[in-house]
Amino acid sequence: MGVPKRKRSRARRDSRHANRGLKAKAITGCQNCQEPLATHAACKSCGYYKGAKVLKTKADRADRRGQEKQAREARQKAAQEAQAASQEQK
Ligand SMILES: [Zn+2]
Repeated sequence: MGVPKRKRSRARRDSRHANRGLKAKAITGCQNCQEPLATHAACKSCGYYKGAKVLKTKADRADRRGQEKQAREARQKAAQEAQAASQEQK
């Protein structure tokens, strides 16, 4: 049978026991979207904390990009139409 060659140092023994005091994190639900959430933290999926919007979420940025893209396309279309109208006059 294998026998330990040396005594385990106090540091090794104590570092093995360092995780004894750990507790599982408390989890609640988001008040706004019911997403599971750590306590005292802003929700990452909807960006709300205690009923107020405090974070920009990925969905918010995507919405913003969509609006900017639509505005850009509308400007380009208007410019093309203006150019076509000016060429017809010539
Ligand atoms: Zn939420």
